[in-house]
Amino acid sequence: MQNLSKHHVKQDDHQRAEGGRTKAATSGQVDDSSGLNIGGDWKFSKNPQFLKDRLAVWDRLYEKQAAKYKEFPREKINVTLQDGAQRDGTSFETTPFDVAKQISKQFAEKIIVAKIKYTRRIGTLDEGLLNPEDDGKSTFENQWFFWDVNRPLEGDCILILYRFENAEGRETFWHSSAHVLGQTLETEFGVHLCHGPPTENGFFYDSYTGKDIFHDKDYPIIQKAAQKVVAEKQTFTRLILTKEEALELFGKNPFKVQLISSKIPDGGKVTAYRCGTLIDLCTGPHIPTTKMIKAFKVMKNSSAYWLGKAGNDSLQRVYGVTFPSKKELDEHIHLIEEAAKRDHRNIGQQQDLFHMHHLSPGCVFMYPKGNVVYQNLMDMIRREYRVRGYQ
Ligand SMILES: [Zn+2]
Repeated sequence: MQNLSKHHVKQDDHQRAEGGRTKAATSGQVDDSSGLNIGGDWKFSKNPQFLKDRLAVWDRLYEKQAAKYKEFPREKINVTLQDGAQRDGTSFETTPFDVAKQISKQFAEKIIVAKIKYTRRIGTLDEGLLNPEDDGKSTFENQWFFWDVNRPLEGDCILILYRFENAEGRETFWHSSAHVLGQTLETEFGVHLCHGPPTENGFFYDSYTGKDIFHDKDYPIIQKAAQKVVAEKQTFTRLILTKEEALELFGKNPFKVQLISSKIPDGGKVTAYRCGTLIDLCTGPHIPTTKMIKAFKVMKNSSAYWLGKAGNDSLQRVYGVTFPSKKELDEHIHLIEEAAKRDHRNIGQQQDLFHMHHLSPGCVFMYPKGNVVYQNLMDMIRREYRVRGYQ
């Protein structure tokens, strides 16, 4: 990492706006009236102490939750697949992965995420949790829920299974990959993680690193650490927290503390997920295991402001992309290279037509040759308009 300044981008520039599904590895949206400089002094540290402290709190709370789940009755449940086929299972034991395995093991291993609707829910600890899929018109009983593939089912339900080829699967894959990236940033550099959503072409994670910034030479370090996470075949586990528990769990990270304080109402509940040493505030769902990520590449880095607001703490944004196979990553890189060759900004320069400047994006500075082409095109369009009766 290096101590330099870089261009800042708005924190939400790359977030997808469609629907409520795109979720950060940290579920976002807080009142941005608060913020400013909360990061304080920060020093580089590999495997910082806060990782161990956080895990100790997690273990204690997770044990408490496991005891509660043990008390729910194990009953025969009926699962209806999208094609109408019926499968049997046991409540609080059978997972969507188990159901998929009844079809074929090969099929099950490609399932990224599930979506379910309960027709009879035997019990749950989820009541009162914020559901990002809720359109406001449905009740808790008749809602669709995105569901971790390795999370036990809680009653009779309709089940849809998604693979990487489906938009839902790809988004979950990249969302989960943001957690892997976050884990490497914490263990290798000791950052305070802030906000890490999937994007249309991968994912990023914003983190606080004081006055330091990431540099190209850090990419191989991140990629090597990510490969280790993948090799460890980490699973994602889910924990429901009260606001007080969440504040205790994330107490060492001032950014997460601010999100929890401003986003969760008093008496409210929130979820966190763990994979490896990373524990993150998140609504989920995630891929069943990190071993599904066969190719992981850091694409670039830039800076951002906390909550996208100038004047707040400056953050480091690291972009990455992942795929279930090396071949798909190679194809993706090839497409990016081909698109760059056909970029009108490069063609404009090469053919002496126009240039563009990064300080004025979208503004074209025309050269004489470019102006001739432009005027001829405009003349043709006007001629065609007249032929077709426009005035
Ligand atoms: Zn997540």
